[in-house]
Amino acid sequence: MDTMTGSIDARLREIKNRIASAAAAAGRSPAEIKLVAVSKTQPPESVREAISAGVGIFGENKVQEAESKIDLVGRDSAEWHLIGHLQSNKARRAVRLFDMVHSVDSIDLAERLERICEEEARVELPVLIQVDLAGETTKNGIAAAEMPSLVDFLNSCRYVKLRGLMTVPPYFEDVEKVRPYFAELRQLRDVYVPHGELSMGMSHDFETAIAEGATIVRVGTAIFGEREYANGK
Ligand SMILES: *Cc1c(COP(=O)(O)O)cnc(C)c1O
Repeated sequence: MDTMTGSIDARLREIKNRIASAAAAAGRSPAEIKLVAVSKTQPPESVREAISAGVGIFGENKVQEAESKIDLVGRDSAEWHLIGHLQSNKARRAVRLFDMVHSVDSIDLAERLERICEEEARVELPVLIQVDLAGETTKNGIAAAEMPSLVDFLNSCRYVKLRGLMTVPPYFEDVEKVRPYFAELRQLRDVYVPHGELSMGMSHDFETAIAEGATIVRVGTAIFGEREYANGK
């Protein structure tokens, strides 16, 4: 299956069909699954093209890049989600820019976001906890064992609202090897954020994620084509 040819519009239609089929196969309604189009490294023109094709939510992984892009495309023309690691010195800009932050992974960061929301009169900031299921110290995310205190803290927040969990599993060519990570995130969600969002699944494995309960899939390459990194990464 070649998803790398054709227009953004055509690829998007194909992705939506695949989401619908995966949902149907799992006995779920496609309406339960939100598509976040991951536009990192993509130029504003591609984002505009995706908006015309019907995309309503974009995912960006860097505050700086998102800031200039959102400025050019228009803050109100879509929903903007931060899916990459958030450095504490960029928390204020993130609070101003994003509709949802998928990558909260420490009490320090959560505290900072809560304080900034108050200062910026942001009455509600929906967030997900990013969980590191593989225990890869190079990866972002909090270990499952450390989740309870972060969950307790977030549940005590007035402005920052815990809405669910997110994970980026290790990459395996064989998607069946990713499935246990998705299943594990779902179990954690059932314990810590019942009925909350499950942000999991990317271009390569979103159908498996949907089978395991994903409510948000983050798809970049399969919509926009391969990313080009201007200077290495
Ligand atoms: C880049 C990225 C994606 C999208 O990856 P694709 O393989 O291009 O679909 C999803 N989630 C996160 C956190 C990312 O950084």
